[in-house]
Amino acid sequence: MAIPDTYELIVGMEIHVELRTASKMFCGCRNDPFAAPKPNIYTCPVCLGMPGGLPVANRKAVEWTQLLGMALGSTIADFSKFDRKNYFYPDLAKGYQISQYDQPLCRGGSVETEYGPVRIHRVHLEEDTGKLLHTTLEGKKVSLIDFNRSGVPLVEIVTEPDIRTGDQAKSFLKTLTRIIRYLEISDADMEKGSMRLEPNISVRKKGIKALPPYKVEVKNINSFNFVKKAIEYEAGRQSAILEKGGIPEQETRGYNETKGETFSQRKKETADDYRYFPDPDLPPIVITPEMKQRIRSDLPELPAEAVSRFRKKYGLSASDAENLTESRQRAEYYEQAVAFSVAPVTPKAVANWIINKKIDPDKTTPQELAGKMKLDLTKPDIADSVYETVLTNIIKDNPKAVADIREGREQVMMFLLGQAKRIERNLDPVKTVALLKKKIFK
Ligand code: ZN
Ligand code: MN
Repeated sequence: MAIPDTYELIVGMEIHVELRTASKMFCGCRNDPFAAPKPNIYTCPVCLGMPGGLPVANRKAVEWTQLLGMALGSTIADFSKFDRKNYFYPDLAKGYQISQYDQPLCRGGSVETEYGPVRIHRVHLEEDTGKLLHTTLEGKKVSLIDFNRSGVPLVEIVTEPDIRTGDQAKSFLKTLTRIIRYLEISDADMEKGSMRLEPNISVRKKGIKALPPYKVEVKNINSFNFVKKAIEYEAGRQSAILEKGGIPEQETRGYNETKGETFSQRKKETADDYRYFPDPDLPPIVITPEMKQRIRSDLPELPAEAVSRFRKKYGLSASDAENLTESRQRAEYYEQAVAFSVAPVTPKAVANWIINKKIDPDKTTPQELAGKMKLDLTKPDIADSVYETVLTNIIKDNPKAVADIREGREQVMMFLLGQAKRIERNLDPVKTVALLKKKIFK
């Protein structure tokens, strides 16, 4: 469904990201739900919501949330607190989620995209819920609950409604994910569910300044492409309603990947329904300038900075610089290989090799790569006349091997190649074998 020219999309995003701290948000349980060998093994009275369980905030999770805020250009709060968000669902044992309501850890900031900046509204810290599994056991339909994920630190990033197209949403999400991975605070893996995306979508007539009086939240989308498609689908659906003089309903919708359509799930709750109030079990967090400074000193070079440095320092194209800074590991690998390389190997050539020859960093160390490239580039070019002389002699001197090859014993070719390289060790093996074949089978 296309959106008519007279309308424009107004999209904000909510992104939930699981932090990869060693332990959970408010207890000492192990934070590794995805790799857990069995359900319900990383649990305790706190994350199961038992009487007497008392939460203690995970310092690392608080600091990483601030680190993320700094990377996004947010203002880091001097004072922050946790609140209870009350609702019932079977995966939420306590009957409330510990979240942050009116005093989040970070406010403001922005992310650049090629279609314009997307401002950040806030970044706050909360806890993840358990996981429901709807399945059939002994012929009966059952719902199982796994609390390994209950209480895992979860960062929520909320943007301003600055996104205008599906492509911009995709570009924003790509950049954000790269920043998160550079900070090494989460693997931000949508397949594992450690990153979850919810676009808030509405449509208004062009020229109107006010935000639309409704928004539609699409939940549980697990790829950037589906976010784009869901936004584009909603653009068509909502503009058709507006065209007829109606107003789309404020609601939560799901996304059907096979049909490429969204469908109504439930009418949207408002913040009032959750009866937020400060968690009496958790003291507020006071953040001193010294604390902020210490966290800021942990801030690594960010992807955008790495791209511009790579272009300047190594003379790379924008696309090569982007490619090599895909992750911190990849960027480090490239820089180490450059550091090990000597003339005539250039930084540009190292980039070409890593990108085009798809070098596997697990199999080739940066030092080995530099060595290989040096060898390859300093190899003298062998004249065709040398190939001709050497190979003619090889064929004359090895009649038995030649006969074997003619009878189909292809592996004997390796023996001839070995003989040829004993005479001239810089022969190109691929070219040598091709020429030998030509001579033997002509
Ligand atoms: Zn626990
Ligand atoms: Mn949330």
